[in-house]
Amino acid sequence: MVIVMKPNTPVQEIEAIKNRLLKLGFEINFSQGENYTVIGLIGDTIHLNESQFEANPFVDRILRVQHPFKRVSRTFHPEDTVIDIAGHKIGGGNVLMIAGPCSVESRDQLMTIAQQVKLGGADLLRGGAFKPRTSPYSFQGLGEEGLKLLQEAKELTGMPIVTECMSVDTVDLIAEYADVIQIGARNMQNFALLKKVGQTDRVVLLKRGLSATIEELLMAAEYILAAGNDKVILCERGIRTFETYTRNTLDISAIVAIKELSHLPVVCDPSHAAGKWRMVEPLAKAAIAAGADGLMVEVHHEPETALSDGSQSLKPERFKQLVASVKQIQAVSQTHIL
Ligand code: PEP
Ligand code: MN
Repeated sequence: MVIVMKPNTPVQEIEAIKNRLLKLGFEINFSQGENYTVIGLIGDTIHLNESQFEANPFVDRILRVQHPFKRVSRTFHPEDTVIDIAGHKIGGGNVLMIAGPCSVESRDQLMTIAQQVKLGGADLLRGGAFKPRTSPYSFQGLGEEGLKLLQEAKELTGMPIVTECMSVDTVDLIAEYADVIQIGARNMQNFALLKKVGQTDRVVLLKRGLSATIEELLMAAEYILAAGNDKVILCERGIRTFETYTRNTLDISAIVAIKELSHLPVVCDPSHAAGKWRMVEPLAKAAIAAGADGLMVEVHHEPETALSDGSQSLKPERFKQLVASVKQIQAVSQTHIL
């Protein structure tokens, strides 16, 4: 970190800042220019409250060199993290396919879709039992009954389960059933929830918030790692922009940026990004070409009757086709870490 002092700062003010930094354990690299005095800090600035220094009227600006996240950063951990979910690996060149309905609706619905996505090439089964819905009048999910059905589907197909957790008080319950706990976009900055899933031994799939920057997503992941759980998968699922044609705008560049900035695996959810089933396959291909470590796709055997997100759900045969075309892209694409 570099602190630039305003021109004509009294010497005693500069000395006071230097002494404060020395007391905090930093080494100092001091440079006196014609107009500006620049104080360079050598040491780990992760715990430094820079806002306190910015509050000083003699400080012109502060430039950060170190990222505010540490455990999730590639600087701290240069190798790709590889996560093993009951034998299915993600990261370090291993690509994972997650598919299933938006919501668990019934035994028939889930078992049908689970078997079909497995045949189509899915590694993990997704399905929401606790649903974050914009309207309180929309289907809210089957709750624990949905978790039990997911367990049944896992026994039937052998596929590990991904399901969303929306609140601190259901983390323990969901951790009993889920192989991967999903934190949805709306909860990306629910810090109490992040800390709580950070204390479990489950893999966490953390979705990017609707209006979250890449840095905010990485800081949210930092909470989970700081709480002791380093099994985190990040998910780009589209962000809010001025565009209304699509449900969200898929930020492909976020996939590339995250691969540069972090060692954690990143998947793409083209379903919530597009909001339209016709766009799901092209976006999925783009994400894999950009270096995504996997996909999470909503699939329904009867999208016309789905209780949530039917318009963006692929029929199983189209999902199978998507997996085949994505595999072709994967075979020719290479990730470049700059
Ligand atoms: C979901 O995956 O079902 C979901 C609600 O996604 P998001 O949190 O990205 O909106
Ligand atoms: Mn959905």
